[in-house]
Amino acid sequence: MNLYSLAKTFPNEEMALAFWIKTRWPNGVRCLACDHDKCYLIETKGTTRKIYRKFECADCGLHFSPTANTIFHDSHLPLTKWFMAITLMTEAKKGISASQVARHLGITYKTAWHLCHRIREAMQEPKSMKLGGESVTVEIDETYVGGRRRGQGVKGGKKSKTVVVGIAERDGSIHLQRVKSSKDWHIRPVLREKLDKKTEKVVTDGDKKYKSMFPKDRHVVGIHKHELYNKNWTSTQTVENAFSLFKRGLVGNYHQLSADHLDRYLGEFCWRYNRRGLQPWLFNMTLENMATRKPLPYKDLIF
Ligand SMILES: [Zn+2]
Repeated sequence: MNLYSLAKTFPNEEMALAFWIKTRWPNGVRCLACDHDKCYLIETKGTTRKIYRKFECADCGLHFSPTANTIFHDSHLPLTKWFMAITLMTEAKKGISASQVARHLGITYKTAWHLCHRIREAMQEPKSMKLGGESVTVEIDETYVGGRRRGQGVKGGKKSKTVVVGIAERDGSIHLQRVKSSKDWHIRPVLREKLDKKTEKVVTDGDKKYKSMFPKDRHVVGIHKHELYNKNWTSTQTVENAFSLFKRGLVGNYHQLSADHLDRYLGEFCWRYNRRGLQPWLFNMTLENMATRKPLPYKDLIF
C-alpha cells in the first residue's frame, strides 16, 4: 500500500475504523468482558466536542473502545494517522526514523517515537521462529554495530560498539540479534534457540569457536582472504549483505540508536527482509499483528 492508495482507501476516520474492526474481529465483534456476540457501535461527544466511537455490549453493557487491549490502546491519535505511519514504516525499505515520521504526520517527536515503537512491535517475527532445516544451507557471522566514540581510537571504538550475530538461510529468511560479545558462550545460546538441528550445512568464516559448535561433515569454513582474492566473493555473502543493508539503514535513519532498542530495530529489519516480495501485503500483515499483540505503554519503552 502506498500513501496515495492509502489516502484513497481511507479518506476518513469512519473508513479506517471499519477496516480496523474487520481486521480485529473477522468473524464479528465480541464483547471483551463476556464474549457476547451482539455489540453496538455508539458515538459519544467528549468535552472538547470530539466524537468517540465505542462498542456497547448488549448483554453485560460494557463500553469498550475498538482499540482496547491492542497495541493501539489508549492512543489519542486518529486511526488515519496510525495507518499513515504504518504505511511509511512498511514502505521504507531501509526503515524510517521517528523524526521523519513526526514531520510527515505533523506530530511531536515524542509521540512519533512511541508510535513507531508500537508499530515496530508488530513487525517482529514470532519468538519461536527457527532457521535452517533439512536441505537448507545456513550462514552464520558476526558484525559490530554502533558509532565510534571520539578520542578513544580504534580500540575504544570497538569497545563502545555492539556485537550482532546473524543467521541467514541462503535464499531464505534471516535472524539478526544483539549479543554481549562474540565469545563462544554468548553465540551458542542464540544458535541453540534459532537454528534448526536438522540443518544440512552451516557456513562460517575461519573463526575457531565455530569448529566445536557443528559436526564436521555439516560445517563449511570459508577463508575470506582467499575467497576475496580469487573470486571477490565470500561463502558467507548472504549474511554479510544483510549486515551491510542494515547498517546502511542505520546511517540514514537512526542517528541516536541506543543499544537497548537495537534488538527491536534488528527485528523490524529482519521482518521486512523476510517478507521481500510481499510488499503489497505488509500493511495488512502489520495491522493484523497489531490486533493480536498486547499494549506497549510508553513507560515500558524508556529505561
Ligand atoms: Zn459483554
